[in-house]
Amino acid sequence: MLDTFSAPGRFWRGNLHAHSSQSDGLLAPDDVCTRYRLAGYDFISVTDHFLPAYGYPLTDTRPYRAKGFTTLLGAEMHAPRTSRDEQWHLLAIGLPEGFPATGPAETGIELARRCKEAGAFVAIAHPHWYQLRLEDALTIDAAHAVEVYNHTGAINCDRGDGLVMYDALLSEGRRLSAIAVDDGHWMTPDFFGGWVMVKAEADGPEQLLEALKAGRFYASQGPEIHDVRLTGDTLEISCSPAETVILVGPVSMNSREHGRGLRHASFSVEKYRGAWCRAVVVDATGKRAWSNPLWLE
Ligand SMILES: [Zn+2]
Repeated sequence: MLDTFSAPGRFWRGNLHAHSSQSDGLLAPDDVCTRYRLAGYDFISVTDHFLPAYGYPLTDTRPYRAKGFTTLLGAEMHAPRTSRDEQWHLLAIGLPEGFPATGPAETGIELARRCKEAGAFVAIAHPHWYQLRLEDALTIDAAHAVEVYNHTGAINCDRGDGLVMYDALLSEGRRLSAIAVDDGHWMTPDFFGGWVMVKAEADGPEQLLEALKAGRFYASQGPEIHDVRLTGDTLEISCSPAETVILVGPVSMNSREHGRGLRHASFSVEKYRGAWCRAVVVDATGKRAWSNPLWLE
């Protein structure tokens, strides 16, 4: 988590989960890209459903790159089958052009590995939305991240939060990052609700992908995290004006600071030694930002 803030470069805002008319989204890919660009995003990945019904699309958004706006090629991957007899939902960002279709006997576990081996950033999508079990999530050993917030899940069925699953995975020792995404289909107001802020020296697709895989980013619905630094046992967090800054880890009694317009908080990490902790910033409207975890000796 700390090298997100000490790394050179600046933060780039991006949405890693979006659908277009190449699968079940309302808008054509160029329209999706244009709307994000005009909303001030620096990048997007249009992640259509990689399913036979849509011809296994790896939506080519390269023509819609523009000055100050780039795209990563990605898809939402599906394969049989979780213990609830559901298709897997896995996000793969940074897939190479021509990524082969899912094999007839390929499982979600194998598909996730194949995406990672092809160079992609792999995330477990919306675990709450489809009632994914922890025992299933633990089998995806190729995952880099978990969706801790999925905006369409929140808007359309009150199942946007992936934090219960995420913390359970961290407490099992899985070193996963946390992403917030839209997963917009544009038939409901399911856009511009969750994003990642990626630290990189430039906004080229390669630099962004490398930073994603290295965990150099935080997730947000609105608040900004400006700095996190550890000096001895003291973790200091600087952020945009907040109501509450929280440090959570694998304990029940976590630490927080309250205050109107709080821009700075500091915590002892002593009780999280030998485990992990992560920072949460909550603003006056209840919107949150989540740092990636800090793993402590
Ligand atoms: Zn989706």
